[in-house]
Amino acid sequence: MQQRQLAKLNIGNTEIVGYSMAGEETVIAAPEFNVLFDIGRAPHDLINLDYLLLTHGHMDHAAGIAYYFSQRNFLGNPAGTILLPRPLAAPVKRLLQVWGEIEGHPSPANIIPLDPGGEHTLRRNLIVRSFAVPHGAPSLGYAIVEYRHKLRPEFASHSGRELADLKRKGVEIEFNTEVPMIAYCGDAASGDYLDLPHVSQAKVVILECTFFDPDHVVRARAGKHMHAIDMPEALRRIQSENILLFHQSRRTSLSMARKVLRALLKKDDMDRITFLMDRKHLQAPPPAPKPAESGPTPKPGESK
Ligand SMILES: [Zn+2]
Ligand SMILES: [Zn+2]
Repeated sequence: MQQRQLAKLNIGNTEIVGYSMAGEETVIAAPEFNVLFDIGRAPHDLINLDYLLLTHGHMDHAAGIAYYFSQRNFLGNPAGTILLPRPLAAPVKRLLQVWGEIEGHPSPANIIPLDPGGEHTLRRNLIVRSFAVPHGAPSLGYAIVEYRHKLRPEFASHSGRELADLKRKGVEIEFNTEVPMIAYCGDAASGDYLDLPHVSQAKVVILECTFFDPDHVVRARAGKHMHAIDMPEALRRIQSENILLFHQSRRTSLSMARKVLRALLKKDDMDRITFLMDRKHLQAPPPAPKPAESGPTPKPGESK
């Protein structure tokens, strides 16, 4: 299979790697948080990330689920963890069972169903929190939230020794605050989720915008997708300075998409927008792996 060119960029001090073409494939990774947002067709360079946050079951976002778990097993990685909308947990389990039968051995997988507002700890002081988004299938968006401990302002003038004394006496000198790092909204029409603080105030908000042609408003509404005309209101609600747009289609060139948005948005708002698939972010496709190279040794019965 021809390798697609992944985009790689730094936005809001966060590295993002991914690929997105509406209806074909969407997979977006945040390597420093060890997460994938959707899996697309499971690009080889990204399956080492341990958490797969699946927004919904449309094939362009979900096709690579079985391949992700199988390849991790083949390469000797620990079982990955998929977080997904609760109604998808049973069918995904069945999918992996059937693939296990087809392949001749099961691939281990942790399947964690979430309801809107559900949370899962990724590592110490880092969680993912789901939120409901409107789309034509059971869907969730995901926010990566970091917990930070801050000194209570009333102790700001205390010396280190005084603070240590207070701590020993059991005085709560710190409070917890949350810092939303990334909000990935998946495929979704506009909705109340845009006002959630862990979405609106995230350092990076990853937002779909599929349609740009004035004739495609009806299609956008029917599929519960964003149209360019929804962007002025979305940008009013989102406070983040870094908005990464994905899920454009082959129908619209990015230069055309930019032109349409420039006509709709104030310059300040336009400056907050980055397109994931901007040509300047695209990496050269990796060379196809050579079979003779020292790859993993398949376990018995696991030859590929
Ligand atoms: Zn999609
Ligand atoms: Zn979709």
